[in-house]
Amino acid sequence: MLLDGKVPGGPIAEKWERHQFELKLVNPANKRKFNIIVVGTGLGGGAAAATLAELGYYVKAFCFQDSPRRAHSIAAQGGINAAKNYPNDGDSIHRLFYDTVKGGDFRAREANVHRLAECSNLIIDHCVAQGIPFARDYGGLLANRSFGGAQVSRTFYARGQTGQQLLLGAYSSLSRQIADGKVEMYPRREMLDLVLVNGHAKGIVVRNLITGEFERHAADAVVLATGGYGNVFFLSTNAMGSNVSANFAAYRKGAFFANPCFTQIHPTCIPVHGTYQSKLTLMSESLRNDGRVWVPKNPGDKRPPHQIPEGERDYYLENKYPSFGNLVPRDVASRNAKEQCDAGKGVGDTGLAVYLDFNDAIKRDGEAVIRKKYGNLFQMYEKITADDPYQTPMMIYPAVHYTMGGLWVDYNLMSNVPGLFVLGEANFSDHGANRLGASALMQGLADGYFVLPYTIGGYLAGHTKGQLSTSDRAFVETEKNVRDRIDKLLAINGKRTVDDFHRRLGLILWEYCGMARNNAGLEKARGEIRQLKGEFWEDAMVPGGGDVFNQSLEKAGRVADFLEFGELMVIDALARQESCGGHFNEDFQTEENEARRDDENFCHVAAWQYQGEDQDPEFHKEELQFENVKLTQRSYK
Ligand SMILES: Cc1cc2nc3c(=O)[nH]c(=O)nc-3n(C[C@H](O)[C@H](O)[C@H](O)COP(=O)(O)OP(=O)(O)OC[C@H]3O[C@@H](n4cnc5c(N)ncnc54)[C@H](O)[C@@H]3O)c2cc1C
Repeated sequence: MLLDGKVPGGPIAEKWERHQFELKLVNPANKRKFNIIVVGTGLGGGAAAATLAELGYYVKAFCFQDSPRRAHSIAAQGGINAAKNYPNDGDSIHRLFYDTVKGGDFRAREANVHRLAECSNLIIDHCVAQGIPFARDYGGLLANRSFGGAQVSRTFYARGQTGQQLLLGAYSSLSRQIADGKVEMYPRREMLDLVLVNGHAKGIVVRNLITGEFERHAADAVVLATGGYGNVFFLSTNAMGSNVSANFAAYRKGAFFANPCFTQIHPTCIPVHGTYQSKLTLMSESLRNDGRVWVPKNPGDKRPPHQIPEGERDYYLENKYPSFGNLVPRDVASRNAKEQCDAGKGVGDTGLAVYLDFNDAIKRDGEAVIRKKYGNLFQMYEKITADDPYQTPMMIYPAVHYTMGGLWVDYNLMSNVPGLFVLGEANFSDHGANRLGASALMQGLADGYFVLPYTIGGYLAGHTKGQLSTSDRAFVETEKNVRDRIDKLLAINGKRTVDDFHRRLGLILWEYCGMARNNAGLEKARGEIRQLKGEFWEDAMVPGGGDVFNQSLEKAGRVADFLEFGELMVIDALARQESCGGHFNEDFQTEENEARRDDENFCHVAAWQYQGEDQDPEFHKEELQFENVKLTQRSYK
């Protein structure tokens, strides 16, 4: 099936404004009659829930943490992009649009990206009005720094805590609506399934994570803003709770999963140091504004960094990409780090690390300036590694960080299931095959504050408010299925920990579906994941009961979904016989080892439809049309 992204007509810069005008409106008195469920209260969901309530809708919001403030969004460090052009260095909405489409290796929908660039400036104004303490320059304007894939400074930041500050802003707006009774907040609830009535999304079934009770909630539309699934790799920079389960439940109910194999590997993370490690830590990309990446020129050189003279260092990004230097996009920087380590030039005990060196910046600007910009990141690094980055270079290595794949949505952010909207990292939308730094916060907030509040009205205006009761058959059946699955998990009674299965799955995916892939490896991974899934349902140990607070049970459910989803990632990677962005199939590379796209055959979004457990999913595609950007081989030289 060919999917229709429902992109409006007209010149690209006018599409969104025209579409806003053409969308049907819901009058203020009627808005009160509509109930909307928002699952997830990170930046995407928090912004959406607050804005929808402000508009007059009645909102029920859900998250699995004890407070919306603990969403994974709080971890975002480096900043948020916008095309304000405060530094007067040549930025514009069109340039942000162009950089983002090119950064994503031409695998995103043009019209969405342009709208994102338009919304970027509104976000900054909105957040300033909320009181977000963005850094300012000496004249009082908001300060900017540079991120990868751009030659302008357009990243707004609040030290290394941008996500935290933005989330506090969204949470304040949400709290106001909660206090007004327009948002009913349900923390510590895990959405386990989506309820469809006559093919429309009409509710969810959740488990109260404290009491173990199941609850049914009905609404006129359901919004998923449940974040990314990088934890499928076990080790990632994501919060430990990040998962794919809500998205996967919707997928099982018919929502298409788009580009699941598009994973972002971030080049600057603290390297893995042991088998029993469960988490990786990001060192923000902002550090590449001042840090210089290098390795020893000679393979096997194990001298400490300060003993390696300047002439024996290879600043490989600056040498290979003189235009962008250390600020090449993440996929490019990550692959190059791997290449250096594969050639035996990696540093540290494992040889799987490269240096990120601030010596020159400290000499140039002074330690106080560097401390002001990155102090909390340096402190975090020192606490974890016991090395002082003011004195010695950081050691960094790529790690799983973000997932560009997600549920397929059209221009209105609605999935192929009517009434099911998907926001933030949970949808596939705007980043194509590689997300540029500081673009996730921009997208989540654009979706939540500025896009969904319009487009959901267009859907609701065409529908009369349903007289739905949670005693309807669809709710009863969905709850029964959910209960059966929980009982099945608890009945396995095996001997291997759930973490053991998760770690094994992560290793398979990292080895065969990670930074570099090839067809033989992917085939092998598929077989191994299937086998692992079989072993899980035979031998997983899920202690405790279902009617109490039981984090082992929560984890088991998420890992069971990851095991099924991992296979879907591999299927998607195998189907895309080209390289693009973060999807690097070794069989498709240029002479200079860059990703070689096949625009003739793969200039599309791959969207997968569930056909039942252990059945191959059905493939659908949305052709991507590029009318405003010329498809070229990406070059950052
Ligand atoms: C360390 C780190 C640093 C980053 N730094 C930056 C940066 O500087 N700039 C940038 O642009 N991006 C950055 N990113 C990416 C960015 O932080 C995320 O992509 C973004 O915050 C995701 O927001 P979200 O609202 O989509 O999801 P999240 O913030 O992950 O929120 C998900 C929500 O869904 C809820 N949820 C999930 N599943 C369920 C379920 N089944 N039932 C009920 N609730 C559920 C959770 O409780 C939570 O409320 C960074 C990412 C990491 C890991």
